[in-house]
Amino acid sequence: MTEDKQTADLRNANAAAVTGTGTSAQWLARYSDSLMGVFGSPQRVLVRGAGALVWDADGKEYLDLLGGIAVNALGHAHPFVTSVITSQLATLGHVSNFFTSPTQIALAEKLLQLSQAPEGSKVFFANSGTEANEAAFKLARAHGGAARPTILALEGGFHGRTMGALAMTAKQAYREPFEPMPAGVRHIAFDDVDALRDAMDGTVAALVIEPIQGEAGVRPLSAEYLQAARELTREHGALLILDEVQTGVGRTGDWFAGIAAGITPDAMTLAKGLGGGFPIGAIITFGEGPSQLLSAGQHGTTFGGNPVATAAALATLHVLESAQVLANVRTVSEIFAQGIAPVDGVTEVRAFGLLIGFDLAAPVAAGVVSAALDAGFIVNAPRPNTVRLAPPLNLTAEQAQSFIAALPSLIATAVAAANLEGN
Ligand SMILES: *Cc1c(COP(=O)(O)O)cnc(C)c1O
Repeated sequence: MTEDKQTADLRNANAAAVTGTGTSAQWLARYSDSLMGVFGSPQRVLVRGAGALVWDADGKEYLDLLGGIAVNALGHAHPFVTSVITSQLATLGHVSNFFTSPTQIALAEKLLQLSQAPEGSKVFFANSGTEANEAAFKLARAHGGAARPTILALEGGFHGRTMGALAMTAKQAYREPFEPMPAGVRHIAFDDVDALRDAMDGTVAALVIEPIQGEAGVRPLSAEYLQAARELTREHGALLILDEVQTGVGRTGDWFAGIAAGITPDAMTLAKGLGGGFPIGAIITFGEGPSQLLSAGQHGTTFGGNPVATAAALATLHVLESAQVLANVRTVSEIFAQGIAPVDGVTEVRAFGLLIGFDLAAPVAAGVVSAALDAGFIVNAPRPNTVRLAPPLNLTAEQAQSFIAALPSLIATAVAAANLEGN
């Protein structure tokens, strides 16, 4: 990154003034003494980012191919997004929802336009994906009432960690320690139209689905399933709710995966990439009916839709649009898909824009993650044999190529480490 020395010195001095300084080992010791252990041990202590690059506390550089889990849509410290956020913060940072602000209104209008939402559609802003899905859960309850207590979700689905979103999340290990869950959620087979048809009846308030399951290893629903989901929910008077927290806002090379597949849902949730790294979530309700379900006083948030978060999202959308970033997503996706498929030890690549999962012949994905870190790449293993990439959407072809070139040795290292352990 081009940064003059004076600016760099000031930034480092500011950082040190509030945190002190330390090596990675020193920070990690302090981490385990002060942070709740829910995330396990962090892989690295990161101190700075620029574009698709980040640096750790020991000065080592990484190419960030995970992007904060599909969050840093324009990479780190994007100059335009950063300047919009800082000037908004220096002008008006927070007002509560007793008031509104131009950025909040402009962002709602922009999301309705990009999602091709029909007349009467509306937006509610939250601060995260799970909160957007809590709003979706309440929307389903408001729609269903006592007569329709059932909410259908899919096996393999991930919707967040707060109680309503957790109830819709499939993984038992996440839910069981915290039972009882909010009642009524049923998980049905993934991408199985017959199972959906069997489950649909007059007690179903909503079907909640991810067009592509990210946490399950980048698994897409078929076009036929999405179509059937739309038809069957309509036929039975249930809402179709798309969770596009991970797939939305350009990630797949389209603005929204479900809309691009020709589906108009009753509601769609967004978060991860929307703020370009700044926390924000949203739910869009499509058309008059769903948009009138929650009335004054029935839902709320203190921080949601605040001027800084909505400015961050507006700035992100502006760059995605004006710099033709979605075209880049499709180009670089193709480079990854072509480059990864023939690598020894890779059995399948699933590339949807820059949300990419690839399977390995052996369950060594965690080993690949750690070999990648040593080699200066950040990737993630959502499953024992699956590696996921969700890099900045403005990643360059050259950056993609550098990972592809390194991949054979990353896999070989992971396999060798697994064999050593096995002996
Ligand atoms: C990450 C994710 C969530 C949860 O978002 P948080 O911001 O972590 O609460 C919900 N749904 C999907 C599909 C996700 O990928």
